[in-house]
Amino acid sequence: MPPAFQHPRSANSEGQSPIHCEACQSAFRSGSRQAVSFLLLDHLTVPALGCDDHLEQFASVCGLTSEDTADLLQHRPAGGIRCPGCRLAPHSTAHPMLSVREGAVTPMACPDHQAEIVQRFQTGLRTRQQLSADIGTSGYSNY
Ligand SMILES: [Zn+2]
Ligand SMILES: [Zn+2]
Repeated sequence: MPPAFQHPRSANSEGQSPIHCEACQSAFRSGSRQAVSFLLLDHLTVPALGCDDHLEQFASVCGLTSEDTADLLQHRPAGGIRCPGCRLAPHSTAHPMLSVREGAVTPMACPDHQAEIVQRFQTGLRTRQQLSADIGTSGYSNY
C-alpha cells in the first residue's frame, strides 16, 4: 500500500494553491486502484489519478500536443500497459501532482513517461493560452 499523497505542497504545483476540488481530493484519498483512469496519448498508456472532470481537462490539454486526441479509459485498456515501468508505477510512491485549474491530476508513469506527460501537459497549456489569446477570450468553458 503506498502512503496516500502526504506532501502535495512538494509536488509540481508551481506555487499555486493546493486542490480545491473535492472530487479530486477524494480520488487522492482513496489512493489509486478504483480511482485510477488511463490516459491514452499516442503510444503512451499512463495510469492517472484525479476526478473525472479534471482528468478530462488534463487529457484535452495533453491532446493539444498530439495529432490525435487523448483518450481516457476508466478501466485498464484491453492491450494492457505496454511499458513495464508504467505498469508498476502506481505501486511506487513519488508522483508529481499537476494543477489542473482548481483540481489536480497525478500521472502515475515510469520516470521517462512521466517526464514526457508532464512536458506535454505544459506544452499543451502554452498552446491553449495562445489559442485563447488568438480568439480573444479568457474563458475555458468550452473545451
Ligand atoms: Zn477535480
Ligand atoms: Zn513507462
